[in-house]
Amino acid sequence: MEETLRQSLLSIVGPESFSEDPEDIVSYARDLWPRTTILARGGTYTSYSSEAILWPKDASQLSRILKLCNEHNLPFVPFGAGSGVCGGTVAIRGGLCIDTKRMNRVLWFDKERGLARVECGINGQILEETLNRNQLTLGHFPSSIYCSTLGGFLAARSAGQLSTKFGKMEDMVSSAEVVLPDGSVVEVGQERPDLLQALVGAEGTLGFFTQATLRVHPLAEERLLRGIKFTDVATGARAIREILHAGIRPAVVRLYDELDTWMALAGGKKEGEPHEKNQILEAIKQRVPQDRLMRAAFSFALQLAPKAGVVADLGPRLLGAGCLLILAFEGKKRLVQAEELAALDIAARLGGKDLGRSPGEAWLQKRYAVSYRLSKVFDAGAFADTMEIAITWNRLMPLYDAVRKALQDEAVVMAHFSHAYHEGCSIYFTFSSSAPDEASSLERYDRIWKRALDAALAVGASTSHHHGIGLLKAQHLRRELGTGGALLDALKHGFDEKQLSNPGKLGFTRTD
Ligand SMILES: Cc1cc2nc3c(=O)[nH]c(=O)nc-3n(C[C@H](O)[C@H](O)[C@H](O)COP(=O)(O)OP(=O)(O)OC[C@H]3O[C@@H](n4cnc5c(N)ncnc54)[C@H](O)[C@@H]3O)c2cc1C
Repeated sequence: MEETLRQSLLSIVGPESFSEDPEDIVSYARDLWPRTTILARGGTYTSYSSEAILWPKDASQLSRILKLCNEHNLPFVPFGAGSGVCGGTVAIRGGLCIDTKRMNRVLWFDKERGLARVECGINGQILEETLNRNQLTLGHFPSSIYCSTLGGFLAARSAGQLSTKFGKMEDMVSSAEVVLPDGSVVEVGQERPDLLQALVGAEGTLGFFTQATLRVHPLAEERLLRGIKFTDVATGARAIREILHAGIRPAVVRLYDELDTWMALAGGKKEGEPHEKNQILEAIKQRVPQDRLMRAAFSFALQLAPKAGVVADLGPRLLGAGCLLILAFEGKKRLVQAEELAALDIAARLGGKDLGRSPGEAWLQKRYAVSYRLSKVFDAGAFADTMEIAITWNRLMPLYDAVRKALQDEAVVMAHFSHAYHEGCSIYFTFSSSAPDEASSLERYDRIWKRALDAALAVGASTSHHHGIGLLKAQHLRRELGTGGALLDALKHGFDEKQLSNPGKLGFTRTD
């Protein structure tokens, strides 16, 4: 970096908030995109890195940094906590990595208006705990809540586990302070037409969120959890649709397919049961003989379900596991009780078996844990990833079948249906696979994603429901948008003529 530029940046943020330390540069060179984890595992991930990391403390410092970047034609990447799983923070053209975590205060909350003003680098769990101490909740509970920021949620249109009641991030934000790529600071969300919704989900390509006004709610008086088992996933999905169409609004809706049901029930087993690894392996082998693929599944299954009594009867369970639906209702006690009864009536009419409260309570206890166990799959030499896509009810089962069919020779696939709406639902596929070495792992990883997204788009699904696009899904987003892609490019041109803000994401490519 030119010395004059370095000195100017240092004069804005101070030496404690500027780093060219190689350890920082390497740490910030990737997020949790599994493709970069495969590379990092082999020790070869060095392709893309920033020239310096900066931690501005407010919009004014950030504005001055971005103005300098424009003068020097230097790209910059917004960085929240790096928990994104699509390569949204990967610096493909170098430049500055700008970490927002020093902007981390709850500025005010107002119970009468049901609003809170918050700085966008705040960690999700700290935000929720701060609100809870004041008898409030945001209602946003992504599995990554411990390791992600409000800015990242806004940038990716994040969804939490209670999305059916509280909505996604775009529903939770009322207005926001944004530093645009040219350094100007604006407040969006109060005007017509509403620019806020164009920026939410733009993944830092159109500006930085520095503060947001969020809709907050009183803490629930009562929470009731329920497990219901259906014979198959189609009937479970129909139950969810009928529950929503009846005007019932559960806080949590999670329907697991057979394999995922087995995993979920496994997670609910008691401590202290013997770990009968051989029985597990035998049971899986008998069911699916494809050797290499199953090695990935073994490690996956073993990490996710280390309690063994579970797995001794894996074969029968898998064959007749059924599909577990977890519902949670929360809010005013009398309302919640009535909603639960009405939902159970619908489920019973469709043949659902009431399993009582324990499956839901077991899920609640470990609700964040399962995602973090995926890293053990990588330790075991395999890889895993998740794909979350949404579609209308009439095409939900064709989507489920199409993606599983597309991956049948490539990966072990399981799925759950966890964000449900009046008109449709999202499916969250988890796939696990392996290959003998890094190069063939990457090849297989890329092929899996291409096949899965090709199949999804062919049925009419969205490219992403809540993880965002990043680098991973850029080409498929462009296919999904069709002629709308030109409109997005025009927006980019208007906001960021020099294409400096988070290059390459959402499929923006430089034209010069
Ligand atoms: C174990 C695990 C579980 C997960 N579970 C969920 C889940 O349940 N629901 C869910 O929605 N996601 C989930 N994710 C994905 C991820 O946590 C979300 O995408 C989250 O919104 C990213 O937040 P972050 O602060 O880590 O953002 P980062 O990863 O740092 O950045 C994500 C994108 O946002 C941009 N960005 C970051 N901050 C700003 C800002 N202030 N202004 C503008 N752009 C910005 C970045 O440039 C990047 O493009 C999970 C990830 C993991 C690893």
